[in-house]
Parts: sequence; structure tokens; C-alpha cells
Amino acid sequence: MTRLAAFERHCPDSVEGVTELLDSLGDEAIVYAGGTELFLLSKFGFAEYPHVIDLKGVEELRGIERSGGRLRIGATETHRSIERHPEVRRDWPALASMERGVGNLRVRTMGTIGGNLCFADPHSDPATFLLTVDGEIEARRGDGDPRRMKLEDFIVGPYENALEDGELLTSISVGELAPDAGVAHQKFILTERPAITAACHLRIEDGSLADVRLAVGSAGVRAARAEAAEGLLNGSGISDLDRVFEEAGPLAADAAEPVEDANGSVEYKRHVVAVVCRRVVDEAISAIGQENDIRPL
Ligand SMILES: Cc1cc2nc3c(=O)[nH]c(=O)nc-3n(C[C@H](O)[C@H](O)[C@H](O)COP(=O)(O)OP(=O)(O)OC[C@H]3O[C@@H](n4cnc5c(N)ncnc54)[C@H](O)[C@@H]3O)c2cc1C
Repeated sequence: MTRLAAFERHCPDSVEGVTELLDSLGDEAIVYAGGTELFLLSKFGFAEYPHVIDLKGVEELRGIERSGGRLRIGATETHRSIERHPEVRRDWPALASMERGVGNLRVRTMGTIGGNLCFADPHSDPATFLLTVDGEIEARRGDGDPRRMKLEDFIVGPYENALEDGELLTSISVGELAPDAGVAHQKFILTERPAITAACHLRIEDGSLADVRLAVGSAGVRAARAEAAEGLLNGSGISDLDRVFEEAGPLAADAAEPVEDANGSVEYKRHVVAVVCRRVVDEAISAIGQENDIRPL
């Protein structure tokens, strides 16, 4: 690890101000929020910018509130602020719980949900989770209109997102959950970042699974919905899940498209994906109708 090279920090208070700086400073400048990824890269000598633009003073990028039938989370909200937010804990408990599992307290206190998604590290908890709760993002330049897109369209590949030149991720939103829906997130972790992530949304109708949305991530280059596995799970009886998973597990592993890396071989990851998916479906079933603990953290 090296020392950080000197840089000038700019602290605009509006998206317009950020755009003006980016336009005038060009390739010499980069935005950051918590800096947990950017300054780590800089310390390893992989990124060097003479100008860094701090987004934390931009009011438009903050806040957690219901808006237009969805929960809107400002891009610079930290994992910790989401994890602790009373409305999130009451009405989106699986989101609070997923955030509580990110990294460690230091990372959660500094790191933001927007920074996590923009960095597009394949080993991301939010990127997997948000696929099951109709996650959308909003982006804009200071001189442009907001653009909304589905999360699946935002993360294009490893360390690559769909932002256009000078555009900021301004907010993330998730859909309201039906009162009889169960949502859960699980991960398998060997080092600091998750090796496998899986999330599930479902309901139960007449003893069978319905509205199943199963997402898998971290095993391959980007999180994805396991649509073929969802097809098998929808309409399956709860008592029949062991049998259904003999086929659904390998289909979920196909969707994860595991790659061999320091976390293991493709074969090993395929096995773990199937196991974690089974667990997350069980947890989502148990989550239906559960009372949520909203005592202050
Ligand atoms: C030790 C450790 C453990 C971790 N464990 C986990 C884990 O278990 N699960 C998990 O999901 N993640 C984990 N992470 C990743 C962590 O969640 C991210 O580092 C953090 O959320 C990034 O947010 P940030 O605000 O610090 O990003 P920054 O470093 O500020 O920014 C990251 C990148 O995004 C860009 N950017 C930031 N905000 C915006 C914006 N609003 N618009 C446009 N571009 C933007 C920046 O230019 C930069 O390129 C871990 C990280 C560390 C260091």
C-alpha cells in the first residue's frame, strides 16, 4: 500500500455544482461519497485524481422517505443510516437486515448505497437484494432531466455501470411490499466481501409459492435473477420444496454464472449457490407475517 497522492477536495452543495466542476475539471476529477472504495484504490496506486468532489453536502442525494408508492433512498445514505432507519426496519425489515450484514461497522458508517452500486463490485449485497424488491435507480446531470432505470439495467458488468458522462446516481428506490410477502437475504462469506449472495421475495397462496423473485450474485461477474428457478418454484407446494430444489438449485447456479477465483472453483460455487438459495427461500417463507423488531439500534 502506498501513501495517498495530494489532491484538492471540492464540496459543492448541488447536483448543478457537481456538474459544473466535472465539466471544468474533466478527467482530472472524480466524485466520491464515503470514499471506502475510491481511497482504497488510490492507496493501492490504482487511481489518482488531483481533484476529488465530495458528494456528501449535496442535499438532493440524501434522505430516506416514501415517495410515489415507493421507498426512496438518497444515493449518499450510508449502509448504517439505512440499517437504522425506523421506517425501513418496520416495513422493509429484510433491507435493514441486509444492510446490517454489509462489511463491518466502519464500512457501514462511511460507505453509501450509491457508492456500492456505482462501484459495481460483483461482490455486492445490495446489488443482489435490490433485484428482488423491484429496485430502481434515478440518475441525472445538473443540466439534465432525471433518468430512471431498473437495477438490472444499471449494473452493466464488473466495475461498470450505466451512468452517462457526468451523471450522478441520485437515488435508489424499492417497491412497497404486500403485507403477505416474505423477503430474505443471505450470503456465504469467506473473506471480507461476500463470496455468494442470494435474495428472495415470495408469497404463499393456498399452500404454494407465488410471486417468487430469486436473485443470485457475487459468484460471477454480476447479480442476476434466477428466472428458470423462479418458474419451478412458483406454484410449488411448501412441503415439496426438497424435490423441487433438486432441479431449481442447479438452475439458480446456472443463473449465477460462477467464475473461478480466490473464493473457489466453479463447481464449488455452483454447489454453494444452490445451498444458499434453498436457505433464502426457507427464510423468506418464515419471514411472512413476522413482527418486526424496531427497537432503537
Ligand atoms: C473491508 C470492506 C468490506 C466490505 N464488505 C462488503 C460486504 O459485505 N457487502 C457489500 O455489499 N459491500 C462490501 N464492501 C463494499 C462497501 O459496501 C462499499 O465500499 C461502499 O458501499 C462504497 O460506498 P462509498 O460511498 O464509500 O463509495 P466511494 O468510494 O465514495 O465511491 C465508489 C465509486 O462510486 C462512484 N460514486 C460514488 N457515489 C456516486 C454517485 N452518487 N454517483 C455517481 N458515482 C458515484 C465514485 O466515483 C467511485 O468510483 C466492503 C468494503 C470494504 C472496504
